[in-house]
Amino acid sequence: HPMTDDTLYLDHAATTPVRPEVRDAMEPFLADRFGNPSSSHGPGRAARAALETARERVAAALGAEPDEIVFTGSGTEADNLAVLGHWRARGGGVAVSAIEHSAVRRAAASAAREGAPVATLAVDEAGRLDLDALTETLQGDTRLVSVMAANNEVGTIQPVAEIAAWCREHGATFHTDAVQAVGHVPVSVAGIGCDLLAVSAHKFGGPKGVGALYVRRGTELAPLLHGGGQERGLRAGTSNVAGAVGLATALDAAVAEQAAEARRLRALRDRLESALTGSVEGLVVNGTGAERLPHVLSVAIPDLDSDVLLASMDLAGLAVSSGSACHSGASAPSHVLLAMGVEADAVLRFSLGWPTTEAEIDRAIAVFREVAERARGVQA
Ligand code: PLP
Repeated sequence: HPMTDDTLYLDHAATTPVRPEVRDAMEPFLADRFGNPSSSHGPGRAARAALETARERVAAALGAEPDEIVFTGSGTEADNLAVLGHWRARGGGVAVSAIEHSAVRRAAASAAREGAPVATLAVDEAGRLDLDALTETLQGDTRLVSVMAANNEVGTIQPVAEIAAWCREHGATFHTDAVQAVGHVPVSVAGIGCDLLAVSAHKFGGPKGVGALYVRRGTELAPLLHGGGQERGLRAGTSNVAGAVGLATALDAAVAEQAAEARRLRALRDRLESALTGSVEGLVVNGTGAERLPHVLSVAIPDLDSDVLLASMDLAGLAVSSGSACHSGASAPSHVLLAMGVEADAVLRFSLGWPTTEAEIDRAIAVFREVAERARGVQA
C-alpha cells in the first residue's frame, strides 16, 4: 500500500523523506533555472554558479575544500569510484571490512576480477573492526583500505580515525563509506584523516540519486565514466544541478540540527529498545558492545520468522526493515550478521528520523508487541 498519513515509518536508514526546505531549494532548478552548467551563456553560468555554491557548502559541512568534492549519481557510485577508481589508478592490494555495504563489497569483488588482491577484515561480535586484525591481515602491498564510518544494518560506528592513522603510517589510501553517518553523527574529513569519503543525499533529507565523493588533493583516482570531463574529469555526465543543490541544502540542515537530533532520537531509540527488550523473551539488541548510530536499533529475535514479522507489521502500517533493505526478501542471514556471529531467526532494524515523534514510538511499541505475540501464538 502507498504511504498514508498514519503509516509509522521507522526505516530512515533505507531512505528519508525529502525535507521541505530541500524541495523549495531544488524547485527553481527543475523550472526556469534549467541551464547546463557546462554552457558558457547566461543560463549556463547561472547553473554553474549554483553548482559551485552547492559544492562549497558540501565542502564546508565536511571540512573539505570545494575542489575535493565530486558530485556523483548516488552513494553507490561514490563508493565504486573510490574503490575501483583507486585500484585502477594505483593498483596494489585492496582491503575491505567484512560488513561493508554491497556498493563497496561488489566494487572490491570487481577489482579482484581485474587482478587486485582483496583482503577481508574481520569484525568482533559488536561489528567493530579489530585494529590488531588490521595489522595481522594487512601485510605486503595494501594500497587501499575501505571501512565504513557506520554500518547500515546494525548502526555500529567504526574507529575510522584510528584506521586512517594506521593507513597513513603504512602508505595506504583510506576510503570510508560515510553514507549512514553523515548528518547523524559529526563527520569531518580532517577529523577522520581519510583520503576518500562517500556521501548520499537521500539518507539525510535530500533527494535520491545524488551523492558525493570527497577526494583529498593528491589522491590517485581513475574515473569510471568517460565523456564530457565534468567534475574535474572524475565524473563525466551533465551535472545534476537540482540534485547537488538538494544535497547541499539537506546536508546544511542535517548538520545544523545534528547534535540536538542525536540527543532526541537517542532518547526515543532507547525508549523503543527497552520496551522491545522487556516485551519479548530472548530478544537481543545487536551491536551493544560498540558505539552505535543514535537513530538505529537492530534486534535479533529467536524462534520467529523475519518475513512473517515484517509482513504483519507492514499490514499494521509499521514500516521497518529486516537487517537491511538491500536484503529484504532474502531469508538468508546477511553478511553483516554472519560476520558478527549473530544467530537468530528474525532480525529487525528500526531507524528513526527527523519526522519521528514520541507518539509514533509508542504506537510502534504497541504494534510490535501485538504482532510478536500473535506470531508466537500462530507458531506455537
Ligand atoms: N553505503 C551504505 C552504508 C548505505 O547504507 C547505502 C544505502 O543504500 C549506500 C552505500 C548506497 O547509497 P545509494 O542508495 O545512494 O546508492
